[in-house]
Amino acid sequence: MTLRLVADAVFTVDYQGTVLQPGAVEVADGVITWVGDPTRTPLAAGTEVRDLGGILMPGLVNCHGHSPMTLLRSAGDGMPLAQWLNEAVWPREARLSDEDVYWGMTLGADELLGNGVTTTCEQYRHPGIVAEAAVDSGIRCVLTPGIFDVPGHGPDGEWQHQLVEACAMFDEMDGRQGRLHLGFGPHAAYSLPPEAVVAVAEAAQQRDAMVQIHLSETEAEGQIVQERYGMGAPAHLAALGLFDGRVMAAHCVWLDEAEMELLAHHDVAVAHCPGSNGKLGAGVAKLERMRAHGIRVGLGTDGPASNDDLHLWDEMRLAALFARATATDPAALSSAEALRLATRGGAEALGLPVGTLEVGRAADIIRLRTDDARFTPAVNAAELLGHLVWAGAGHLVTDVWVGGDAVVVDGVNVRIDGERARVEVGQRARRLVGP
Ligand SMILES: [Zn+2]
Repeated sequence: MTLRLVADAVFTVDYQGTVLQPGAVEVADGVITWVGDPTRTPLAAGTEVRDLGGILMPGLVNCHGHSPMTLLRSAGDGMPLAQWLNEAVWPREARLSDEDVYWGMTLGADELLGNGVTTTCEQYRHPGIVAEAAVDSGIRCVLTPGIFDVPGHGPDGEWQHQLVEACAMFDEMDGRQGRLHLGFGPHAAYSLPPEAVVAVAEAAQQRDAMVQIHLSETEAEGQIVQERYGMGAPAHLAALGLFDGRVMAAHCVWLDEAEMELLAHHDVAVAHCPGSNGKLGAGVAKLERMRAHGIRVGLGTDGPASNDDLHLWDEMRLAALFARATATDPAALSSAEALRLATRGGAEALGLPVGTLEVGRAADIIRLRTDDARFTPAVNAAELLGHLVWAGAGHLVTDVWVGGDAVVVDGVNVRIDGERARVEVGQRARRLVGP
């Protein structure tokens, strides 16, 4: 059966930035089959119509997250990265049970979907449980099991064990659940020995799997790699062969021009996380320079302990604000380019057929209501685009489809119990704080 969704405006985020007013999108078997003007194109027999009003646009794409960290939201505020990890994050994570992680990911997925994020690229430990929660929630997930040495975790905390587990998960689950894609998540150049990076690179490249890694997040981390290996983290990872496969590098705040050229040469994609980088005082990534080098860039929330919410709308706005403020140029990142970063840009960075409302793409679609001060007035398409970028907000998202399935209906996730997840996380988080 074909479903036609009709709205006052459809932002396709195609290459021309087409906006249809009114507009409609038809979906069959989870895929977009037609996009156009509903007043000019008659309905085919058997098509169901939903006249929604408001705005339809592609679902937002989150390129870097650790969503089960809803359990650690706001832990260690004000600490620099190394201290934050060692004192606020890793001690609590050492106490995590599988059930804790399930509810943490469920709450994170509920928050992401409720805000219109239809794809999330996740890196975390306990990957089997994260996968289960992601599939239950209905979100599209690229899951890259975390690989790094965790002090005090016994054999489970050793990278060799985690790599074996990640390979087994990839071989068993990649692509078999429809919306679940597996990859590999080596933590960072400073937290893994070179032999681990080589082993992960080989395992991922044998499977044509994506690798997600933290890269050049802070200045201090770059100095550690420089002192240890006599070169910067990007050159170090390239020399170990990691960049010979598909790679998504999160943060990339401290890249110089030569390092950007290196990433562009190897077609390494970047997850730009302006909210997390700002909160942890890491710095401001040179978004416009990375784009000028032709690097594929998407946006990331990072984990809820360093953001602290999962509202990709904020990342879109921060990306545009930081780009314009650092360049002292109001044309530095246009509103259309900001919207592309949050949707099509993220999809291209992850290599997924989502992020635009075009024929043949997976039907990952969101609908926003516009009967709100943030969207008033809306005198033309350009100003409506401005409202999306500068005033768009998750609470205006009423409906979400992932692969054509209605996952959020009238603001409520119909697949999971978001209220229970909130209560579970609230209770479990207290135990994780420890004595
Ligand atoms: Zn991260």
